[in-house]
Amino acid sequence: MSQQVIIIGGGAAGYFSAINIAEKHPDYKITILEKAGKGLAKVKVSGGGRCNVTNQRDNPSELTKFYPRGQKQLHLVFKAFTTSDMVRWLSQRGVDTVAEADQRVFPVSNSSQTIIDCFVNRSYELGIKTHYHTAVKAISTDSGEWIIETNQGKYEADKVIFATGSTPSSLNILSDLGLEITPLAPSLFTFNIDDPRLHNLPGVSFENVHIKVVKSKLEESGPLLITHWGLSGPVVLKLSAWGALELKERKYDFGVLINFVPGLNQEEVRSTLQELKTTSPKKKTMGAVQFGLPKRFWERMCATAGILDEQQNLDLSKKQINKLIEELTQGLYPVKGKSTFKEEFVTCGGVSLKEVSLKTFECKRFPGLYLAGEVLDIDGITGGFNFQACWSAGWVISENI
Ligand SMILES: Cc1cc2nc3c(=O)[nH]c(=O)nc-3n(C[C@H](O)[C@H](O)[C@H](O)COP(=O)(O)OP(=O)(O)OC[C@H]3O[C@@H](n4cnc5c(N)ncnc54)[C@H](O)[C@@H]3O)c2cc1C
Repeated sequence: MSQQVIIIGGGAAGYFSAINIAEKHPDYKITILEKAGKGLAKVKVSGGGRCNVTNQRDNPSELTKFYPRGQKQLHLVFKAFTTSDMVRWLSQRGVDTVAEADQRVFPVSNSSQTIIDCFVNRSYELGIKTHYHTAVKAISTDSGEWIIETNQGKYEADKVIFATGSTPSSLNILSDLGLEITPLAPSLFTFNIDDPRLHNLPGVSFENVHIKVVKSKLEESGPLLITHWGLSGPVVLKLSAWGALELKERKYDFGVLINFVPGLNQEEVRSTLQELKTTSPKKKTMGAVQFGLPKRFWERMCATAGILDEQQNLDLSKKQINKLIEELTQGLYPVKGKSTFKEEFVTCGGVSLKEVSLKTFECKRFPGLYLAGEVLDIDGITGGFNFQACWSAGWVISENI
């Protein structure tokens, strides 16, 4: 008799699992249950509507470094299906992709709709049924069979793929079953900082700074952007992902030390500033932008160090130079709260990875129940890594179900 497979959740992980299972097992009867009126809603809005579908880095050892949760466990998973496999998978189904300079991969069309069309059309060709407006309320198992209770009545299945994302209500269904859930926490956010040194500078950006969280081991380097509310950019997002749990515990109230000239040590900065006094003594310090810093930011730093608009390099005092060095190499900024990054709400937490075998994504305690996507306690930093975790899980499930 053919196997009945129910996929709970028509998102990235649900659709990708469904298609790959159907391609490998044409005799299986596959149904996706989706509570909304449409599937793939997050794919639609992803990457600002362009869908950052994966990343160009494809070596599992390198790739796992982008996952604050799941790093160790994903190695095996990426060996089975990595980013270049996804690029090939899409290409074989008519979707060409392109990698940007920072290695993020997008469909050539620059539209997330291309990915949605590919998934929806392929699932239709394969005879996968999708039942919309069908919200799953509970699941249970009896003598190897699964019973799925929904607002539209009961379904029965031999295998269940649970791919609902990480909403508290969907995690409750699994905790009712007895699975261990790691509490949820936001893992992609920007830092709120109300500090006069940043006022009226939104849009000012830096190619590379180093940020260290005070009283923590957290530190990262990378591009930084000043916003209306504080600080954003890749370096902040990396800190928010790696520090998701720690910063939540600290109630998003902590200090950061920023080095705006990370390639130089304090003595090198000092000698550059000292030299100004002899090489261009008559020049105004405010106008003599140093270290490739944005002009407006340099002027703000000079003002913070007590350097007057008209002051010449010749008149730079030791105290001013010391203050400038301090501000440039270890400026202390108080973070009070967080903001969502471009509506991109990613959470860490979910079903503990102890509950599943990463060789199959099947629950160790519940044979026939598979978990994929954000419902698991896996999350990546921004760059196409979160989707890749969905694609790899879906593939592995299809190989083993
Ligand atoms: C604005 C935004 C932009 C993003 N951009 C990117 C990006 O460019 N690249 C990237 O890698 N990641 C991105 N992410 C993260 C990425 O979207 C998620 O990691 C990914 O969608 C998770 O897929 P999933 O299938 O696990 O869950 P989801 O995509 O959330 O899908 C779960 C589905 O299950 C359904 N569902 C939930 N509960 C039930 C229930 N009880 N019964 C039936 N159905 C249910 C939901 O309606 C939903 O359709 C972005 C996230 C956001 C919010």
